[in-house]
Amino acid sequence: MKIQEMEKKFREIFGSGGDIRTWFAPGRVNLIGEHTDYNGGHVFPCALTLGTFGVVRKSMDHNLRFFSMNFEKKGIMEATLDELKPDPALSWANYPLGVLWAFDEKGMHADYGFDLLIWGNIPSGSGLSSSASLEVLTGTILRDLYGFEIENEGIALLCQHSENEFNGMNCGIMDQFASAMGKKDHAIFLDTATLKYEYAPVFLKDQKIIVTNSKVKHSLVNSAYNDRRKECETALKELKKAMNIKTLGELTNEEFENIKGAIPDGIRRKRAKHAVYENQRTIRAVQALKQNDLKAFGQLMNESHISLRDDYEVSCPEIDCLVETAWRVKGVLGSRITGGGFGGCTVSIVENKAVKEFERIVLEEYKKRFDKDGEIYVVDIGGGPERLA
Ligand code: ADP
Ligand code: MG
Repeated sequence: MKIQEMEKKFREIFGSGGDIRTWFAPGRVNLIGEHTDYNGGHVFPCALTLGTFGVVRKSMDHNLRFFSMNFEKKGIMEATLDELKPDPALSWANYPLGVLWAFDEKGMHADYGFDLLIWGNIPSGSGLSSSASLEVLTGTILRDLYGFEIENEGIALLCQHSENEFNGMNCGIMDQFASAMGKKDHAIFLDTATLKYEYAPVFLKDQKIIVTNSKVKHSLVNSAYNDRRKECETALKELKKAMNIKTLGELTNEEFENIKGAIPDGIRRKRAKHAVYENQRTIRAVQALKQNDLKAFGQLMNESHISLRDDYEVSCPEIDCLVETAWRVKGVLGSRITGGGFGGCTVSIVENKAVKEFERIVLEEYKKRFDKDGEIYVVDIGGGPERLA
């Protein structure tokens, strides 16, 4: 889609005239460090060149109008600055509305409304954070349109706050941070306990990052997510009786092994083990990458998958099939589930010369086992949000 096509559509939908501007914000893929962001651990995501585009024009009144080219059937959704509260009838527009609400709460009041046309090329609901991308896009637009003084990091925090409180999704900070702070050819090594971060270069000369979309999303995803959060919270409380810690992310594997007896329940012990080990794996993975040891990096990705499958139990047969088939393809350095789980996507690092075989073997096996067509994207690491026109 070209910007001109979006602008043309904007005029068709909202009428012509006025100052029309266009912005972009990226989606993200998490290379390693899954379900650690609400456990005080590290994550290692990167922004993608895939993302969400928005064409905007300020209006003369307090009215807000939203239209998405990905959800054309929903038509124009209307709201007003005078009533910033969630409304199921507004469907997807509750995301941008939530960001307006979060800014407003912090004293950043939009004095005029706007028309916003959206189009995104992230497969939605697949674990590549189309929602965070839409939120960060909105936050960036608000800053630039109204001249609010806020850094990208602040935008990420407000977007997470709005997704938590306005949209009722109890997500951690990773998705919004990765979108708002994206840097071309770099992944972001983020300590979610302190928000300290470091960019690690990911210059893959002979390999590609491949995202494979299972095209399934099991309904368990939200309830299980909240269950896992609770299980980890309880496990942390139990561990605190044995050791003075604030988060699971503070523990080394050895420390965890020494005090894990404080968690009486076997399931909770497995959940906490994943949170601790996954965090340590992420730290080691970044070290491996810095030493250009992609083999070790890939091995840690594989271990991450096994832990998410067996200890955290957030995988599903479709995703296991994609990952386990990928492991058998020659030239695959690592492959794992990415995102919240129960469907969505896998992420793999694959030698350039093996990409074709990877695509053929993985998709054929998936079709054979589940009679479904998966999708493969060779992705590039892109920068953060920006104004395009
Ligand atoms: P993910 O963030 O993993 O893609 P979510 O379920 O968190 O999945 O977010 C997907 C939702 O975000 C969509 O159902 C829709 O409400 C909203 N969304 C994302 N991209 C767009 C878009 N281009 N246009 C309208 N809504 C979008
Ligand atoms: Mg999301």
